[in-house]
Amino acid sequence: MTTDMPPILQIDNLYKSFDNATILKGVSLRLHQGEIKVLIGPSGSGKSTLLQCINCLTYPDEGEILLDGRVVDRTSKISLCRLRQEVGMIFQDFNLFDHLTALNNITIPLRKVKKIGRREAEKRARLELEQVGLADKTELYPAQLSGGQKQRVAMARALAMDPKALLLDEPTSALDPELIGEVIAVIKNLAARGMTMLMATHQISLIATLANEILFMEQGSIVEQGHPSVLLAPGSNSKSQGFCDRLN
Ligand code: ADP
Ligand code: MG
Repeated sequence: MTTDMPPILQIDNLYKSFDNATILKGVSLRLHQGEIKVLIGPSGSGKSTLLQCINCLTYPDEGEILLDGRVVDRTSKISLCRLRQEVGMIFQDFNLFDHLTALNNITIPLRKVKKIGRREAEKRARLELEQVGLADKTELYPAQLSGGQKQRVAMARALAMDPKALLLDEPTSALDPELIGEVIAVIKNLAARGMTMLMATHQISLIATLANEILFMEQGSIVEQGHPSVLLAPGSNSKSQGFCDRLN
């Protein structure tokens, strides 16, 4: 791990409240090139809110987000646009455009946001769809795809933007059990290719085998962090181990 480079993402002391409830209570983390950090913890502990704050889909009340060592200016459209191009987001419920084919779900953002020409955008979209095993589904609409296929289109769309890091919010939680494996396979393939990721997940195979670090959230704070080989070691008695035991 290169320590002299600034982290791709640095999150400093984020606070977020909804109404009168404080949902994030001073969350800090760093994500360096090639690292995979996995967020776990009970439902309602703030994992989705944290991921959404990092991508400025919702705004923290306090705290800073640095991308490549530069503070993200939440009041600047240019700064937000750069953040969203460089940090891809994968949602639990896919967030595809229902009126667009798989191919156009990928080409439209490439053309509008990255200002890439039609032919080049299509070429890139086909390549990304091929990478996730959907070369034969380019002309289908989301309604014609299974949940696993939809999530793979969403991943191809995020990857087509050539992001420096991916945020994934429970990418397999909306899927029928028999479709989870195909999405896990894509995530494992990305990990093998060195993609930097921050992912909330309840999938033990991702937590135990991919994470360089587990971040355990509880009531808006990271209350435990460490390598899975330590936190999930037999007898470690960690919160993470207790949580993972209950997943089985
Ligand atoms: P997790 O992803 O860990 O399950 P969330 O970040 O989704 O947790 O939610 C944390 C808490 O924030 C929950 O109590 C939830 O009800 C609340 N919350 C999330 N989004 C909103 C919102 N837009 N308005 C009000 N409360 C919200
Ligand atoms: Mg969530």
